[in-house]
This record gives sequence, structure tokens and C-alpha cells, in this order.
Amino acid sequence: MKILVTGAAGFLGSHLCDSLLGQGHRVTGLDNFRTGYAENLELANTNPNFEFIEHDVQLPFSGSYDRIFHLASPASPPMYQLEPIETAKINFLGTLNALDLAHSTGARFLLASTSETYGDPAVHPQTEDYWGNVNQIGPRACYDEGKRISETLAFDFHRQHNVDIRVVRIFNTYGPRMNPNDGRVVSSFIDQAIYGRNITIFGNGQQTRSFCFYSDLVNGLMRMMETDGILGPINLGNPSEVTMLELAQQIIALTGSSAELEMQPLPIDDPKRRRPDITKAQKILGWNPTVSLRDGLAETIAYNAKAAGLNTLCETSATG
Ligand code: NAD
Repeated sequence: MKILVTGAAGFLGSHLCDSLLGQGHRVTGLDNFRTGYAENLELANTNPNFEFIEHDVQLPFSGSYDRIFHLASPASPPMYQLEPIETAKINFLGTLNALDLAHSTGARFLLASTSETYGDPAVHPQTEDYWGNVNQIGPRACYDEGKRISETLAFDFHRQHNVDIRVVRIFNTYGPRMNPNDGRVVSSFIDQAIYGRNITIFGNGQQTRSFCFYSDLVNGLMRMMETDGILGPINLGNPSEVTMLELAQQIIALTGSSAELEMQPLPIDDPKRRRPDITKAQKILGWNPTVSLRDGLAETIAYNAKAAGLNTLCETSATG
């Protein structure tokens, strides 16, 4: 198939391109390098079935594709809060342009939405029928509401124009190629640990997240795209929940770091608990995360340490 991946130079987009190319598809990656990197596409660029278009999704784009995976959007809170109006525009206009292309060419469209659409959830774990608890005037709203209107657009294109859509709500995902400086918790903790700096914990560290390894997530995205009879939304994430303190301790143990914990005030609207209910993904997609947090962290630490030119005491790797 001919497949377009927007946000291709990002953490998830680049791994998705590699996996799709591995299945023999012809893949076009589109990105404007807002938060992504050309280096993430080094492997994809060695494949003759890959082409890259540098473009901002806020402007219309063209081409003829069988599938469109729409991932372009800043994803980490510090990045999306840097220019919040731009973030809202990227989400609204970018999704509109990607859906317009799907509509005009008959491509199947998948939206990479987010667990942030649940806001600071009053329901735990989060099921897809929960409408969420988002503060629409808070500093996270540019992203949370941006993704919510993206979901609305996808469903309206389906209802009004019969576009074949898939909506996935991605929960925290981590792994090699995450930008260590973009403020996401796993990459920040690893970076702080390998350089022996203090590990910054917000609040009392008892807030929880559930972390999914990138390879499981990419597998789920591809299954969702190729499963008939389901529009979504569907949660993809790892339901094992850890506190931020536990995460920091695991990373310190795996790196053998002498880093100490430093407590800082909790950011505004930071969700206290996050765990996906993945019953739908299990039943409909036959999908389950397979990589344990320990193995995934070990592989990520090894990658980040190598990228930083450091030796690490990390003992194992998820891929051996
Ligand atoms: P990322 O920041 O590494 O990748 C996003 C990519 O989108 C980057 O390469 C960036 O340059 C590109 N992009 C941003 N604005 C663009 C624009 N205007 N035009 C073209 N390209 C643009 O983040 P990621 O973690 O790979 O996230 C990918 C998608 O998955 C995002 O839509 C994000 O919201 C969603 N998501 C990710 C997670 C996660 O934990 N990683 C969780 C929930 C949702």
C-alpha cells in the first residue's frame, strides 16, 4: 500500500515508518521538524520505498494514499505549552487538512489522539466511553482540546463524508528516539540519571502513569488501521500503573546512578492518575502490550546513553 505518515520525524512516527517499510509498504513521511529530528529517519532513508516531504500540516497537502496515519503534533507538555496558539492550530488545521486529503482520495485515516482527552480523570481506569475532565482554559488545554476537536473532526468527516476513520487514544509511550530534552517524564528521568543530576519529581511523587513501550504501541496502531468495522476511539497503552517515585527508583537502579530525588511543585492541571482500560483493544484488535517496564526502560537507557556517548551500568535489553 501507499501510506502517508504525518509527524514522521518524531519518536512514534519514525518507528511507525520503519515498521510499515518492514512490511513492504511504500511510505511517505511528512514533517516540519518542529519537535522531530532528521536522524530519526536514518533507517527509513536507507529504504527505497521511503520518501520524505518537509511540510507544515497547518497548510494543505496533496498526494494519493491508501492509508494516512496522522501523528503530527507536538506531544510533550513543555513543547506544546511553548507556543499554545500554534499547538491548537496544528491540531485543528493539521487534522482538517489530513482529513480533507483522506476525503478527496478515499484513504483510510487514523488519528493519533491521546489519553489527555480524559484530562484529570474522575473515572479510573479510563474507559473509552468516559467523556473526560479537561480544564478548557488551563495551560494544557491547547493540546487536550486540540486533540478533542481533532477527534470531533474525524467523526464529523465520517458522518458527513463517510471517511473511513480510526481514532486511537494513546497513553504515555516511551522508548528510543524520544527527545531527552522535551520534558517527558521517562526521557527526563533517564537523562538526569545518566548524567548524575538530581531527578526532578513533581508533587509528592505519588501520582501515577502507565507506560507503554513504543514497539507495542506501533503494533497497536497498525492493527487498528487494518481492522475492519471499528472506528474507535480505542485506548492503547500499558495498564500497569507506577507512581513517579517508583519510576525514578527503577531508573536509578537500572542506571546505577548516584542521582538524588528533588521534589518540585506539581504543575497546574497535572493528572493525578492515568491508566487505560484496554479491554476493547484486547477484544477487538487482539492486542496486548508485551514489553515489561523494566525491559523497555533498559533498552531506552542503553539507547540514550549511547546517543550521549556515555557508558551505562544498564544490565539488560528488551531486544537482548
Ligand atoms: P514527537 O514530538 O516526537 O513527534 C511529533 C512529530 O510531529 C514531530 O516530528 C514534529 O516535528 C511533528 N510536527 C509537529 N508539528 C508539526 C507541523 N505543524 N507540521 C508537520 N509536522 C509537525 O511526539 P510523539 O511522542 O512521537 O507523538 C506522536 C503523536 O502521538 C502525536 O500526535 C502525539 O500527540 C501522540 N501521542 C503520543 C504519546 C506519547 O506518549 N508518545 C501519547 C499520546 C499521544
